[in-house]
Amino acid sequence: MSFELQVQLHLNGKRGVDILHDPILNKGTAFTESERDALGLRGLLPARVGTQERQVMRVMENLHRKATDIEKYIFLVALQDRQENLFYRVVMDHLDEMMPIIYTPTVGQGCIEFGHIFRRPRGLYISFKDRGRVREILKNWPYHDVRIVVVTDGERILGLGDLGANGMGIPVGKLSLYTACAGIHPAQCLPVTLDCGTNNEALLSDPLYIGIPEKRLRGEAYDDLVEEFVTGVQEVFPRACIQLEDFGNANAFRLLHKYRNRSCTFDDDIQGTAGVTLAGLYSALAITGNRLSDHRFLFLGAGEAGIGIGDLIVTGLMAEGVKEADARRKCWFVDSKGLVVKSRTDLVHHKLPYAHDHAFIGDFLQAVETVKPTALIGVSGMPRTFTKPVVEAMARMNQRPVIFSLSNPTSKSECTAEEAYAWTDGRAIFASGSPFPPVAYKGKTFVPGQGNNAYIFPGVGLGVIASEATRVTDEMFFVAAKTLARMVTAEDYAKGRIYPGLDRIREVSSAIAIAVAEVAFQGGLTAMKRPDDLPAYIKSQMYDPTHVKYVPGP
Ligand code: NAD
Repeated sequence: MSFELQVQLHLNGKRGVDILHDPILNKGTAFTESERDALGLRGLLPARVGTQERQVMRVMENLHRKATDIEKYIFLVALQDRQENLFYRVVMDHLDEMMPIIYTPTVGQGCIEFGHIFRRPRGLYISFKDRGRVREILKNWPYHDVRIVVVTDGERILGLGDLGANGMGIPVGKLSLYTACAGIHPAQCLPVTLDCGTNNEALLSDPLYIGIPEKRLRGEAYDDLVEEFVTGVQEVFPRACIQLEDFGNANAFRLLHKYRNRSCTFDDDIQGTAGVTLAGLYSALAITGNRLSDHRFLFLGAGEAGIGIGDLIVTGLMAEGVKEADARRKCWFVDSKGLVVKSRTDLVHHKLPYAHDHAFIGDFLQAVETVKPTALIGVSGMPRTFTKPVVEAMARMNQRPVIFSLSNPTSKSECTAEEAYAWTDGRAIFASGSPFPPVAYKGKTFVPGQGNNAYIFPGVGLGVIASEATRVTDEMFFVAAKTLARMVTAEDYAKGRIYPGLDRIREVSSAIAIAVAEVAFQGGLTAMKRPDDLPAYIKSQMYDPTHVKYVPGP
């Protein structure tokens, strides 16, 4: 269904204030004279017809009056609830400034304070008390052509842990990025929180907590709720892709494996993170001048992010002709107990492929000295664990040490950008999960790369929905990583940056979408016929908030 038709159906019967109160239809003062006449808006707006440019000026002026990032977040959420096209125009035109507010790190603070800053609900809240009526709830959603669902149960929000129903800030934020970065129409995006309770004592005793103040649902009852949700989505929104988001790691791997071959589902924390990190590593190869198979990777953290990245690195190594067993031996993990090795009896299933035949080492620095990695990847959620001796050891062993400190938000980062550059005498190839400002060191300015999943998942999602793919495969994340790495320019490298600038994100997303759609067409993952001009087709699917088509109903 075209967006025009969708707006028309949505508009059908709506007039006057009902339009102004609908964030997708509302254009505020920018309604034209003829729209005002046709839609019963005359007199409900100031007489001077505004433009989107002037509306953006007004928003920016007000935004810059806010003293703190959390106030800016509240202001932007309110704008999104009032007038989405303007919200997206603002976000897209100032992505560098807006990304850290609508996404990590500020969204983390937004989730912590969610019950206290709550104004209007957005998305669907499905609680464990709703068992047996999940389909009915899905049918309450006012838009009928949902194509991307981002769902969380709030158990592992960023690196902040269990935030229960407050986690809704994450699906909302991620879907904003789908629209801003890849042009997926806001009416095609559905944020969902499965409110399964929380084990966070502070929230349980907070009178303003918005979720059900009970301990987390576990076991069969939990699985039944998720099952009812996934099958409900398949029935009510049959063309939707489900993105699993910020589930605790005991559930994340299980749910991904359970649903990835039964539905159009992926887990961004596992697969999206892997895509953006592998892209960073491919970019790093342009600096180190060698191949992936010349590297040895040591991870701090063996959870969703770490194992997901490890698995995609293995795919990359195998593409270079390395045998799977040898590829796994190039990836080493340290978890909260120490080096992941065969002799350990406490390893959960997802760590086993990386449990090597080696003596156990409890201390991280000693693990670094022993494994002698060329690349260190921090995904532990444990701040300041890449200590000076650890980073100095990397600098001693490698001409260009790769140091990715990916834990979010900024307060959880394994080391800062400044530390990585200073402790390696400016030789580190550095990337972080949350943004760090440029670092001046010995007369040179380094621009740290942000391994932001927003480089990957919006493009993958766009490729999947544009090709009507019925499954999301690892190969899609692999081609996404390769495509992203190819888009880094000589100018980026000169600044020490291993990802393209965010100002090119729509170009990046559409290139990734084309590559992903090709995988779907070539792999028989869709019943759709490949359009002759795939790039033009993908482009035609991308929403542009400046040109919101306004078609009055009959
Ligand atoms: P997770 O809970 O699944 O895994 C965390 C892992 O860290 C576990 O294996 C745990 O054993 C290990 N760990 C905990 N304490 C440790 C310690 N002291 N030393 C070593 N290991 C320790 O979480 P996750 O989804 O893998 O996310 C981990 C971190 O990565 C989070 O901070 C998250 O924000 C970040 N992350 C970043 C990106 C990105 O930059 N693009 C994407 C996803 C996740």
